[in-house]
Amino acid sequence: MITESVAAHSRILAQDSRFPAYIYDLDALAEHAGGIRSSLSSPGAPEIFYAAKANPDPAFLRTVAPFVHGFEVASGGELEHVLAAVPGVRIAFGGPGKTDAELRTALELRVERFHVESPHELKRLADLSRSIGGADILLRVNLAGDRSGVALAMTGPFGMDPDLIEACHGILASAPWIRLRGIHAHLASGLDAAAMLRQGEEILAWARPWLAAAGVAEPEINLGGGMAVDYSAPDSRFDWQAYGEGVAKLARTGETLRIEPGRAVAVYAGWYVTDVLDVKRAHGEWYAVLRGGTMQIRTPVTKGHDHPFTILPNSNEGQPSVENQPVTFVGQLCTPKDVFARSVPVERIGVGDVVAFSMSGAYAWNISHHDFLMHPKPGFHYLSTASAR
Ligand SMILES: *Cc1c(COP(=O)(O)O)cnc(C)c1O
Repeated sequence: MITESVAAHSRILAQDSRFPAYIYDLDALAEHAGGIRSSLSSPGAPEIFYAAKANPDPAFLRTVAPFVHGFEVASGGELEHVLAAVPGVRIAFGGPGKTDAELRTALELRVERFHVESPHELKRLADLSRSIGGADILLRVNLAGDRSGVALAMTGPFGMDPDLIEACHGILASAPWIRLRGIHAHLASGLDAAAMLRQGEEILAWARPWLAAAGVAEPEINLGGGMAVDYSAPDSRFDWQAYGEGVAKLARTGETLRIEPGRAVAVYAGWYVTDVLDVKRAHGEWYAVLRGGTMQIRTPVTKGHDHPFTILPNSNEGQPSVENQPVTFVGQLCTPKDVFARSVPVERIGVGDVVAFSMSGAYAWNISHHDFLMHPKPGFHYLSTASAR
């Protein structure tokens, strides 16, 4: 359901059709992030690094910062961006295909942890860091396991298979200035708390003996992100309380556990709000054509889902409208793929009505191809009662 503050701001924007717009509810974000942190505050609970790629908006980063232990970045660009927004914050640097230039920048900026994705990357990091005091690393492992039922299995070139990771021993032995701190694993996205805990156990069962054999004292194990978000149930939430209690039970003294969620932190705080330009019937189907499109919120296209929304009626007498029909919501792009939601039953929709898409705070604006068709960019509006944000 739409919150009162987002609805009120949408009505203000509707007065002179200042759409499309992203409304970022920073108060809601702070409350949600604070709730996550307090669910993960018992002894043995994991540290939280927010995965900046989910939404790197500076206001988002600053709002989340007080409730997390650090940020996970996946490129040199994200690294510099996050440090500019939240100076001095703890950073873990992951991602496949890191260039020498990115590694150099990360070393200069004193990144706290490198998540190393291959033996070749480890060699290059060893060479680049030799004269400047080395680097602290986690080796990223890619365990085979059964990932059926997850939203996104991280199959492919992410991290190292357990047999490939063995090739790191020799490199580490010849580069004692590289400090092996532990293991990193981000295996899948879209897991509920119980599945996330089972996956955590799987990672720990592999990582603990491996790290013990490698002689790593006080090891760190990063269990990744991927906490589930259910777009078909906008009011449901990942069970952070159960997850926190479960991880605390798995934890052993002397080791540090860490997670790096993105979507489940950011998604609920963003709204893409726009208005209806046209309503019409084509080949027996009803369409509402909205200002903007999936070039500004690519999420429904990449996920292949109906994006959840609320209709805020506007005065539109005498304008095209439809009642009690399934309606397909499309944007302004000249492609049949520009669909927000398909054949969703609505009570009534008409030209000028406002449509507010919830769950638009993660992998929405920043993954979209903004310049396709050169429509005006959305406005960005931040709801916040805290002036510091
Ligand atoms: C994208 C990513 C995350 C965050 O995943 P979410 O599904 O947004 O929680 C965490 N770690 C790594 C390595 C990633 O690539």
